[in-house]
Amino acid sequence: MRLAGAGRSAIVQALADLGVPEGERKMRLAQLWHWIYHRGAREFSAMRNIARPLLAALAERHDLGRPEIVAEQVSEDGTRKWLLRMPPAHPHDKGAEIECVYIPESDRGTLCVSSQVGCTLNCTFCHTGTMPLVRNLTTAEIVGQVLVARDRLGDFPGGTAPTDGLVPSGEGVRAVSNIVFMGMGEPLYNFDAVRDAIAILTDGDGLSLSRRRITVSTSGVVPEMSRLGAECATMLAVSLHATNNPLRDKLVPLNRKYPIEQLMQACRDYPGASNARRITFEYVMLKGVNDSPAEARALVRLLKGVPAKINLIPFNPWPNSPYACSDWETIERFSEIVFNAGYASPVRTPRGRDILAACGQLKSESEKLRARARLMLEESLVVGQE
Ligand code: SAH
Ligand code: SF4
Repeated sequence: MRLAGAGRSAIVQALADLGVPEGERKMRLAQLWHWIYHRGAREFSAMRNIARPLLAALAERHDLGRPEIVAEQVSEDGTRKWLLRMPPAHPHDKGAEIECVYIPESDRGTLCVSSQVGCTLNCTFCHTGTMPLVRNLTTAEIVGQVLVARDRLGDFPGGTAPTDGLVPSGEGVRAVSNIVFMGMGEPLYNFDAVRDAIAILTDGDGLSLSRRRITVSTSGVVPEMSRLGAECATMLAVSLHATNNPLRDKLVPLNRKYPIEQLMQACRDYPGASNARRITFEYVMLKGVNDSPAEARALVRLLKGVPAKINLIPFNPWPNSPYACSDWETIERFSEIVFNAGYASPVRTPRGRDILAACGQLKSESEKLRARARLMLEESLVVGQE
């Protein structure tokens, strides 16, 4: 089994299976946990305070591997995009490839991770929605995206930061300080794996990421939203994209199941939401579809009383996509109405533009995956959280 990305109970089970006496397991777990998640160990042999025979037994049955970086692209502004290959999860699985994007700023770095390969929901503006769901990612595969990013960025003790681009540094500054679940897939349709991954990422004895610096984006899976708040206590982002049900039914078909009224109620009830911990509302700007001044005003009315941030995302077209991105003046007019209602600078500066063009150089098997990588870079518009 792959222990890099495993939770506490899986590691304890692995120790039990190796015959480690019950009374010793707690201590061994603490040691392994520290090496794997705090130190970023990639070999059991590096674990100097654990007895050799146990390390040998661990190495025989388990490994500390990460998803493989198949390709990497670095933008002039330091944005990095990795094509990652997951090993087969079971004998009939061919493995999977996903993209992971890193967006550095001077004092923080945000990693955009995937929760599924593909997506079962069919939002009409989203390319992932046109892919058949290959499968859910496992907890270890979700955590593995963070481990591989930290390896590459020299973010574990003793690591070396790459010299070919911006990686935030300085006293107490971490290269990967923020995580957004805005890659492929609907995280709330893979709830258990996402929850268990968040538990590992936020564990104080390991990666120790703050829950306030983890954002889960959902298209509006209402019944799971309160669970997310209660069991994960992360920040929430909601892909709204329309202010009335007939239009949202078309853009985000899940709206037919959970209409706007239910979605907004779930936001009002989201545990922990407050003015200091606002819910992010994502709104993709689709030319002539949802971008009129009247819709900007409707958006402001809809969010009244909800502790909200708004992120306007310029639509990123894909081959034969049925929409176009709103004109820049239209986005500015929309943004001004939202700004005048008290929401600060809702359109983010695009990042990683220059490597979009070079996307095709990635050795991705599927054109769809490459298109998805472009989307993810565009989505980096929305990830600059506080
Ligand atoms: N499934 C989740 C998270 C992944 S999508 C969700 O829907 O929220 C992350 C964000 O990218 C969502 O807000 C989604 O609506 C947006 N998005 C998808 N396709 C896009 C495109 N072509 N252009 C701009 N944003 C897009
Ligand atoms: Fe799935 Fe999100 Fe894309 Fe909709 S926008 S199809 S929920 S990944």
